[in-house]
Amino acid sequence: MLIFKKVADLRQWLASQTTSVGFVPTMGALHDGHLELVRMAKRDGCLAVASIFVNPTQFNDPKDLEKYPRTVEKDTALLISAHCDALFAPTVEEVYPTGENLTIDLDFKQLDKVMEGEFRPGHFKGMATVVNRLLDIVQPHRLYMGQKDFQQLSIVRDMIRQLALPIELVMCPTVREPDGLAMSSRNVRLTPEMRVIAPMIHQTLQWTKTALDKNRPAAEIQTEALQKLADAGLRPEYFEIVDGETLLNVLHRNDSEFIVACIAAFAGEVRLIDNLILK
Ligand code: AMP
Repeated sequence: MLIFKKVADLRQWLASQTTSVGFVPTMGALHDGHLELVRMAKRDGCLAVASIFVNPTQFNDPKDLEKYPRTVEKDTALLISAHCDALFAPTVEEVYPTGENLTIDLDFKQLDKVMEGEFRPGHFKGMATVVNRLLDIVQPHRLYMGQKDFQQLSIVRDMIRQLALPIELVMCPTVREPDGLAMSSRNVRLTPEMRVIAPMIHQTLQWTKTALDKNRPAAEIQTEALQKLADAGLRPEYFEIVDGETLLNVLHRNDSEFIVACIAAFAGEVRLIDNLILK
């Protein structure tokens, strides 16, 4: 696997490649969820290019940025094991050269205002900015992202459409631990006690699917789900049942053909998110 730290070096290498490029942007502290994105790119016959960049502009909480796990050597070994072709691991200065304003200021309507948008002000502007910047550097044919960050994916899809970028966005299903907990770089920060409780997030999502299949009103399910999470010892920030395209609340199973339940909850000090496609 080739490792690039400079934009110019990566661009020079990419210019000499003839195979389609599949791009997997990450913030490192890699786990099997990230590696599955790389494997998907390879299965699709792409040259897999991953990036590791802990993007400061998408952290609304400086403590969260400071505590974000950084395990570059282990990540490199994992990427090699997944047959990744190239890793781009730039510095902040490479991504955001001094004096250049690369901020993306698109109107995502409600997509970046609900759920994560409400609780993490500025997060999606920073995310869209870095994804756009990385796409401009790598110019991939395909972009591989996880369903785990469903709202992020919706916003990136909208950005690709608004900017008319010639990129196919591929969604990878959420990879989970055997007990259902969605793999996340943040899981390593869970205390043993919270690690036991955290799978309740997925269990609540599964319960939600059963409840919606029984045609129970979404508002009723929401109240009960929030209670279940709190009873388990988690501190839910939100639990929403939304239309998978618009991210607006649905009231009833018949309201939409594509319904997703999305959760954010604190397990101790660690903020976890997850979602499940209900319909
Ligand atoms: P991150 O490094 O957490 O920003 O994530 C980088 C990419 O990996 C994003 O597209 C995430 O949605 C995806 N990802 C993170 N966790 C998982 C998971 N458990 N399963 C599938 N994809 C994931």
